[in-house]
Amino acid sequence: MGKVTIIGGGISGLASGIYALLSGFECELYERHTITGGQCTAWTRKGYHIDNCVHWMTGTLPSKEVHKVWRDVGAITDDVEIIQHKSFMQVEQDGKTLNVWNDLKKLQTDMIAISPEDKKEIRHFIKMLKAFCSMEVPAIKPPEQQKFMDKMRLLAKIFPVIPHAAKYNKVPLTEYVKRFKSDIIRTMILSYLPDDFNTIGIVYMYSTFISGNGAVPRGGSLGIAKRMEERFVSLGGKIHTGYEATKINIDNGKAKSVSFKNGETIDCENIIVATDTEVTYKLVGKSYMDDYFTSRYSLPQKHPVFSSFNVYVGVDDSCKNMANMSIFKCNKPIDVFGNKYEKIVVNNYNYEPSYSPEGKNLLQLMILQTKNEFDEWEKLHIDTSTYRAEKERIANEIVAQVEDHYPNLKGKLTVVEIVTPYSFHRFCGAHKGAYMSFITTSETPRETHCGRIAGIDNLYMAGQWIIPPGGLPNAVVAGKFAVQRLCHNTGTKFIEP
Ligand SMILES: Cc1cc2nc3c(=O)[nH]c(=O)nc-3n(C[C@H](O)[C@H](O)[C@H](O)COP(=O)(O)OP(=O)(O)OC[C@H]3O[C@@H](n4cnc5c(N)ncnc54)[C@H](O)[C@@H]3O)c2cc1C
Repeated sequence: MGKVTIIGGGISGLASGIYALLSGFECELYERHTITGGQCTAWTRKGYHIDNCVHWMTGTLPSKEVHKVWRDVGAITDDVEIIQHKSFMQVEQDGKTLNVWNDLKKLQTDMIAISPEDKKEIRHFIKMLKAFCSMEVPAIKPPEQQKFMDKMRLLAKIFPVIPHAAKYNKVPLTEYVKRFKSDIIRTMILSYLPDDFNTIGIVYMYSTFISGNGAVPRGGSLGIAKRMEERFVSLGGKIHTGYEATKINIDNGKAKSVSFKNGETIDCENIIVATDTEVTYKLVGKSYMDDYFTSRYSLPQKHPVFSSFNVYVGVDDSCKNMANMSIFKCNKPIDVFGNKYEKIVVNNYNYEPSYSPEGKNLLQLMILQTKNEFDEWEKLHIDTSTYRAEKERIANEIVAQVEDHYPNLKGKLTVVEIVTPYSFHRFCGAHKGAYMSFITTSETPRETHCGRIAGIDNLYMAGQWIIPPGGLPNAVVAGKFAVQRLCHNTGTKFIEP
């Protein structure tokens, strides 16, 4: 049977390795970091477990197509507890609170109670959320391998969504919220997605949670990555960490070998590249970039990406009266390179006691970051002491605002870790520090990439950038699709459990 070389050991690379092994290929994976997992990872700081990624993982509902993929790759097993919070997020504003409950009736009642004058719009919003509970991340076959009946089956599943998607795909979030008179409802709908997102973005995100399809596996990001790594190794896969690919050597329309920073070069028969696509095109050469990525990289205003600035604080308190996720407007906006941020998201990890030392708790404090700020962070990083000073200044301002909003936490917060968009770029090669792929805006419809590079016959692309807007479900599915394309091209039977 043939051999496959995988470059990049994030969720997508691990998934492609698992499916390649299941389909009978020999498989070796090369990852530049010391561990696999990519952005879906965690590390320890000052006794705290810093979870970098998962706040919700689409695919926790057994009836959904992507659920089977998570099971195939070992991320979800019968032994893993799925934590389903009752509220996705609590908005705290002007002395009021509003929760995005996982119960639509309760959500509607609370929204109407807080703003009776918005009753009609609220009812319509709830109707959309209900319809979107049927939404699927298509995960059975890549689009070009779907037969007429496959398309019809998918269409039948997502039928209730179609009228709403047609109506609101082109409506930016900032426009949609104008229909509501209530300020707190507007904040809830804008939540922490960038303003460029279209209305469907937030409706889909909330309905994923409401339907039970967006929960968190116990053990968080590192747990997901470790279980997938174990599955890959148990099937006979080999992992080489500390291997940073520098060039894919192409000859006569085929990738012949891969060169690494450590001076080694290995021959390859088939190759799946599961890195950020900006890295992929550095490895093969920019001349191979097609119109899809050329237009996206050259028109960043039309194809925005986003990131975040995250501060992790240890707390001398159980935080048992705080929501698992909350958002509030601060009194003094946070200034980041001249941009003002007034919304802070607080993630409360008290549902994972193992993340903190005995008697303590961990909070993640987040503000959004855009591409322009990434460029500033990158420039600043040339002088690491200035970079450090700036991130500490911003972290301290965020902590002060959190203490102002939650006076009972005053004097109980200690900064244990600060992560900037540049960190995601430095550790994973993330384009502009983005932690998802290109945003689906009102101007740019969702369009997936074909996962191939014209002129390189034995190379397959994986990774979240192939299926916007990215995130864990699209990363894992892109890994599966890469192997289905490999099997199709080599005349191999694709085998899945
Ligand atoms: C703060 C944060 C919060 C998030 N929250 C969520 C969430 O709640 N839900 C959700 O669905 N998604 C979330 N995401 C997004 C999710 O983490 C990503 O979509 C997903 O992990 C991407 O997987 P990937 O395999 O496509 O890419 P990556 O994770 O980027 O993996 C690429 C891998 O390639 C390696 N690599 C790069 N260059 C080379 C090279 N030259 N040679 C060898 N290896 C290389 C990298 O080190 C990395 O391991 C979040 C991300 C972040 C950062």
